[in-house]
Amino acid sequence: MRITFWGVRGSIPTPGPETATVGGNTSCVEVRAGNLLLVFDGGTGLRLLGKSLLKSMPITAHLFFSHVHWDHIQGFPFFDPAFVPGNVIHLYGGNNVSRTLEETLAGQMDHPSFPVHLSEMGAKMHFHDVIEGQPLELDAGDGTEAIITTARGNHPNGVWAYRVDHGGHSVMYATDTEHYAVVDPQLLKLAKGVDVLVYDSQYTPEEYAGTNGGMPKLGWGHSTFDEAVKLAKTAGAKKLVLYHHDPTQNDVAVADKERRARELFASCEAAREGLIIEL
Ligand SMILES: [Zn+2]
Ligand SMILES: [Zn+2]
Repeated sequence: MRITFWGVRGSIPTPGPETATVGGNTSCVEVRAGNLLLVFDGGTGLRLLGKSLLKSMPITAHLFFSHVHWDHIQGFPFFDPAFVPGNVIHLYGGNNVSRTLEETLAGQMDHPSFPVHLSEMGAKMHFHDVIEGQPLELDAGDGTEAIITTARGNHPNGVWAYRVDHGGHSVMYATDTEHYAVVDPQLLKLAKGVDVLVYDSQYTPEEYAGTNGGMPKLGWGHSTFDEAVKLAKTAGAKKLVLYHHDPTQNDVAVADKERRARELFASCEAAREGLIIEL
């Protein structure tokens, strides 16, 4: 498997010289498993992934949404392959509150917010509801199979965490989730023995508690690097990737977060745009 990070920021894009090393694009991670192209979230990083795919048209992509907050869907109207006839895009997500994934993705492209409607995009799109407890098996096109399993996280309006197992390797994508007093039993189960755990590490413990001068962030649906370490260690994860950095954290702050996390768990890295992990 090959994991590529296209957008690692939470909440809102943060361009500028202060964030140039880590990157300012919002959530998007590409996972290659055999011949499969799996994409986790469609934040603004998805635009860059789309550009990189243009040289390999036609494509079939499987796009998994953790949830439909802006920072996870805003790149979709700028995903070039979605406009190219002949491409096939499978979209997976929760049937959130009152709207389906399709209605939400189309909604952000409704007049007057966007000039082109989802129904005018040229690629063939197939929408799928994520169903709890039902693993998805995808033919990897090389005689192997990838298994995608899910768990619910803890976030306003709900969120899905995904795990991919392929060829004896595994990666878990768990963003936008807030820890409990005990390690989240559902995420723990999903993370058991995983090779790479990508986890919401939006805050430092001080930012989360509000002891650094800001507001406390309890109930906002995000976690901290030390809670990420707790989950990684308890689950026996081999590597931890700190993900969904807070927009207030510049490159220096993310590096410091990474340094502190490494003191607790050596096999740890802060996600940055362009990071590639091969398994
Ligand atoms: Zn988010
Ligand atoms: Zn969110």
